[in-house]
Amino acid sequence: MSMWNSEKKAVLEAAQQMAKKGLVVGTSGNVSMRLREPSGRELLAITPNARYYDTLDVDDIVVADFEGENVEGELAISIEKMLHIGIYKARRKVNAIIHTHPVFGSAISVATREIPAFLDDQVTYIGGEIKVAEYALPGTKDLVDNVISALGPRNSVLLANHGAVSVGRDMREAFTICELAEKTAKIYVCALSLGRVNPVPAQAAEVEKAFFNFIHGDSQ
Ligand SMILES: [Zn+2]
Repeated sequence: MSMWNSEKKAVLEAAQQMAKKGLVVGTSGNVSMRLREPSGRELLAITPNARYYDTLDVDDIVVADFEGENVEGELAISIEKMLHIGIYKARRKVNAIIHTHPVFGSAISVATREIPAFLDDQVTYIGGEIKVAEYALPGTKDLVDNVISALGPRNSVLLANHGAVSVGRDMREAFTICELAEKTAKIYVCALSLGRVNPVPAQAAEVEKAFFNFIHGDSQ
């Protein structure tokens, strides 16, 4: 049995939940977790490319190095592997990443440039506004750069005309952020249709962002 069995299982379960909850359709999206070998080498466990999640077994989850090469597992790896690796390199506290194609987040990624900071839980757990990364073709270096830049120090980002990426210190947190980001997107669409979106008052947002930075900031 692989030494990464429990991590692979966490990736598999999150991927199956993501499909079950309608955050992706079919084989789209991908899920990964950062792994650290005793030697210090960093790896990631990630979902394979173009496979229906309910047909996957724990051993179908691939372990790859930060060059994107398979270390364990035979299946072709997700084409967005360099996106996951890029985020792990840029954000030291991030240990799990979920890329989805959610309905409301994707609608916003088509229509606007960002979701402003307008809900308390959004600011506290996502870190403020949710930006839309500039468009680039899936699987390209440009997409990686655009996503990392729009994500910044926050925990969720939208990809123009594509979907969403959410991150966390562990898989449970990344999944919660994923759902919270989609809830935020839904409420934003509802609020827009009511004709008005009031931001979180500046002073409160400052307190919430300070809390967020204390927990998630890379300086800690
Ligand atoms: Zn995608």
